[in-house]
Parts: sequence; structure tokens; C-alpha cells
Amino acid sequence: MPPDSGGAPAVARADTPQSDTAPTATPTDTPGPQTADATPPRSDDDDKPESMDRYETTVRIEKGDTLESVLRDMDFAPDEIRKAAAALKPVLKGARLPVGETITLQVQAPQESDGKPTLQALVIRPEARREITLERSAEGTFSARQRTFEVVPKLVRASGVVKGSLRGSADAAGIPPSVLAEMLRAFSWDVNLQYDVKGGDRFAVLIEQAYTTDGRLVSPGRVLWAQLTTGGGKNTYNVYRFKPARGAEFFYYGNGQSVVKSLLRTPMGLNRLSSGFGMRSHPIMGFTAMHTGVDFAAAYGTPILAAGAGTVVAAGPYGGYGNWVKIDHGGGIATGYAHMARYAPGIRPGARVHQGQVVGFVGSTGMSTGPHLHYELHQKGRPVNPLSARATQRAGLAGKDLERFRAVVNKTDRARDGAELIAAR
Ligand SMILES: [Zn+2]
Repeated sequence: MPPDSGGAPAVARADTPQSDTAPTATPTDTPGPQTADATPPRSDDDDKPESMDRYETTVRIEKGDTLESVLRDMDFAPDEIRKAAAALKPVLKGARLPVGETITLQVQAPQESDGKPTLQALVIRPEARREITLERSAEGTFSARQRTFEVVPKLVRASGVVKGSLRGSADAAGIPPSVLAEMLRAFSWDVNLQYDVKGGDRFAVLIEQAYTTDGRLVSPGRVLWAQLTTGGGKNTYNVYRFKPARGAEFFYYGNGQSVVKSLLRTPMGLNRLSSGFGMRSHPIMGFTAMHTGVDFAAAYGTPILAAGAGTVVAAGPYGGYGNWVKIDHGGGIATGYAHMARYAPGIRPGARVHQGQVVGFVGSTGMSTGPHLHYELHQKGRPVNPLSARATQRAGLAGKDLERFRAVVNKTDRARDGAELIAAR
């Protein structure tokens, strides 16, 4: 059929894209008299210049705003505000207006110089998945309706090179802070985040996020896969999220080994540590014949964590070590923590501790020139280098779990190749 033989209007709309699908009828497709103020301006198809006496405005919600305060700021009459608020109340259900979210309003400017504007329509999104529209009828009454958006998962990936701090580099790559925290935790048993991560190291992550069907982010997401390359490409750590039949969902290396080891690599609160590492310039001591532990620089008061489960065998002042805690992990392995500002509650000789439990707080007691953690690892009574010792064991997947895990690895690897790149900042 030739394009001009049907019932289509002779003059095609300039903004109608050429496509195979039939165009949907919109009010402007309907021939007829066009009165500028017969209908409120439509954002999707209105290409007329905006009328000065009827306009659309989008305002950002600030801390402490209520719907009423926003409308008052826009100079609507008190009666108008009361009616609008009353119509919105049943659908808004006292929802707190999220700071940073926007309200879009259609406003009719006052007819006289001393008059008040009138509210024609208003759109607000109290939550990402809920949109509320308030409209004024020809009679001047308000009615509100609600639209709920479905939430769908979406895979996104991000990657980058460490420049300055890992936190700053991850942020620049568009990785949300909660996702970075999950990555750091997954790597924390094998990578010392203060010693091992340096400028030029690489990171990458596959994230499952949740979006509404119209593209609003509902949750910043969870890590499905993450990779960290350290030592100028020498060490690459690839972790996959997996849930064994019995046990909690966590991260495993590609060969099915758990990332969790009997001892933490960095026995400190990671949040504080990660905010600073990569930016330090003052020297911290590594393991030598004269210095039988390693020093971690950290802010005064940073939590110190039990590197592994065990029994406290010492918790008290110990010469130049200042306030000192020693934990026996069994199998001839023990760890020690020096220069603490103070001990955590319940940390006394004989107490049982779990891996990751706070045992004390970073200080500078004993022979110390500034706040840091001096950390020692003992094997059969002798101090060894905690950064290189292979003193720890880890669990692995087996049987049906390992089979399922291999399928998850394949699926994840394929999904990663097809995932969209996250919007970098
Ligand atoms: Zn030291």
C-alpha cells in the first residue's frame, strides 16, 4: 500500500518516528480547534511554546518539607492547599516525602496582579515504585490516583583502576558504597586492604540491581561477582555469590573454595580502614627480625577484630605493648593485638570470641608514637609474618553444592558479558 493512499493525514507530524508499529493516537493527532487553555499542558506530546499563564514546575524536596509547606512556598491559597492535601491524604497515607525527590506541578498563574495561582495538577513519587497524580477537575475539585510500577532485576557491571584510594576510585566507577562494602568483605580474608591494594590495581564487579519498569533504581544492588587484581597483575581474586544447600549465602572462588578463612587478613573494622588506605604517607612497619608483627595505621578508636574464633588468653598491660590482647585459636595458632586504647566489654582471659568480634579499640598505649594496631601471629609459640603465613584453613564446596556452583559460575560469567555498564560519575 502506498503511504499516501490510506486514511492517514496528508501532513505527517514531524516528530513521529518512522517505524513498523502503528502510531498510537494522541490528542494532538485528532483534528479540531486547538484552544491553548482547554487542557493542561502535556509533557509527552506538547510541542507548543509554554504558555506564560499556565506552566509546569518541578521542585526538589528539602529536609523538613511537607506537601503543605511546598505548596505554601508556591503561594497557593490556603483553601487550595487544604483541598489538595485532603485529596492526597488517602493515597499518600502519611508517607514521608523523600529528600531529593521531586514534585512536578502544573500551575495556572493568577489572572489579576494581586490574585493567587491555582494548582492544576501535581505528580509525586513517595517511593520509587509508587507514583501519585493529583488533578483538578473543571469544577475545581481535586482527585488523586496512584500508579504502581513493577520491580525488575537488572544486571550492571563496573570496573576501574585504583588511583589514590580504592574508595574514591570505586565511587568514580559508579559503584554504590554498600556494594563496595560487600566487595571489601569478600576479599578481606585474602587481601590486606592496607598493604596489598596499591595504585594501578584493578577491580571489577557484577551487580544485581532492582529497577522499576520505568527505570527508577529501587535497590543499589548486591554483588554477584567481583574481581580484584593486586601486585601489578600478579594476584587476581575472582569471587562468586553462592548459597550452599546448608549454609549461608556468601562468596566462593571459582574453584569452589570459600573466601572465609579461619583467620581474617585484616583484623580491623573495614569501613574506617577503607576510607583511608591508599592515601597514607606515614610509614607503618612490616615484619622484620626486630619487629615481630605488622603495624596497621588507623584512626584512634577504630574497632579491632578477633582474627579468628578462639579463647582470650591475655587481656591486660604488657610492657611496651601497652594494652594487649592475645587469642589462642587452637592447633598451635595464636594472635596478639597491641597498643589498644581500651578493651571491648567481656574481653578477659578465658572468654570465648567469634571471628570478627570486636576485642578492643585502636590506641597508642605502651611504646608507640601514634595510634596504630600492632598485630602478631604466632605458630607453635613463635611469631611469624601474618601477611605471608599460610596458617589458616578454609572450607570448600563439594558434591551437589559444587555441581550447582559450577553452573552458577558459568551463568554468572555469561551474564557479565551481557551486562550493561553502570553509569560512572
Ligand atoms: Zn609494631
